Amino acid sequence: MRVTVSVIKADIGAIGGHTIPSAEVLGIVRERVEREHGKLLIDFYICHAGDDIAIIMTHTRGKDSPDIHQLAWDAFNKATVKAKAQGLYGAGQDLLKDAFSGNVRGLGPGSAEIELDERPSEALMVLLSDKCGPGAFNLPLYLAFTDPMYSPGLMLSEGLHDGFTLHIMDMDHTEGDRLIVLNAPERLYDIAALLRDTNRYAIEAIWSRKFPNEQAAAVGTTRLRNIAGRYVGKDDPPAVVRVQKIFPATEEFGPAFAVGAFVGGDTRGSHNLPLMPVPVNTPASTFFCCPMVSALGFSMHDGMLTAPSDLFADPFWNAVRDQIALKAMEMRRQGFFEPAMLPMSELEYGGIVARLRKLEQEFVVRKEAAKTPAGTE
Ligand SMILES: [Mg+2]
Repeated sequence: MRVTVSVIKADIGAIGGHTIPSAEVLGIVRERVEREHGKLLIDFYICHAGDDIAIIMTHTRGKDSPDIHQLAWDAFNKATVKAKAQGLYGAGQDLLKDAFSGNVRGLGPGSAEIELDERPSEALMVLLSDKCGPGAFNLPLYLAFTDPMYSPGLMLSEGLHDGFTLHIMDMDHTEGDRLIVLNAPERLYDIAALLRDTNRYAIEAIWSRKFPNEQAAAVGTTRLRNIAGRYVGKDDPPAVVRVQKIFPATEEFGPAFAVGAFVGGDTRGSHNLPLMPVPVNTPASTFFCCPMVSALGFSMHDGMLTAPSDLFADPFWNAVRDQIALKAMEMRRQGFFEPAMLPMSELEYGGIVARLRKLEQEFVVRKEAAKTPAGTE
């Protein structure tokens, strides 16, 4: 059966700061989506990561279906009325446009969608994040899909041995988003050269090379600031990742996420802290809004989803979290000094740019220094 898995998520307000959505707001999203259960949707699941509500949907309408996107848009808008009535912080903050225009892309909510021919045992993960930019999954996905040190299936399984094709989005080009398609392992060094810059480049999709019709992963690459023209909150990407058989096994993603790579985001979206794997429905951390990722494992048959397995909930992750918390606390000891705070290029929509512009007037050029050509002393 050909099924589409769509994850559409948005931050439409949270309790006492950027923490969690209220139960009432979540209830309104659920109630709106539930009305389409068995009609427009085959199945659905609703949860949150920090302050971001995720609507996970299965259906047969394909990617970019206006009906599916409209449903999510309506649910978020309806629930925003409640968020405002409750005085939630940042109520409606990810709904950047007034009118729906066929797709949530460009309107604020993030989305990740995969259309697939269901395998007999279709296993997939949904990754949800909070307090981080679209490149937050670059390192874990790079390690799981291209590096045999983390993903022994690349050596051990014929289905993976040919490698994967990575679609990488340049989110910060002057002419708008642009895409490059590179094959691993041949172009591994080029892939690495791009993905290292998580503020500019993000994996958008990954495809099998042995089975070119099989998409392995889809990641949301919305940059809210590119829509709003100013800082309005972090992007908090969602992703759908198929696992097992011709794809890396679920557990091969574990060590890659346990790295706790530093990513941009956190407090005021202006800092670097390690990406912390947490259980589903975890509130954002009051420790400087440390970036977080949750992973839900699903099995799917005829588009029907099982209840999810909470993939970062087993006891092992307590030790990982302790270690990542130490990394985070160590970084925070240096306050605003780089790289704890993001480089100026990433703060261009923040108040610090206006502040520096004011300081410009107070700078005095040292004439002697300016006259001395470099390297002549
Ligand atoms: Mg968020």
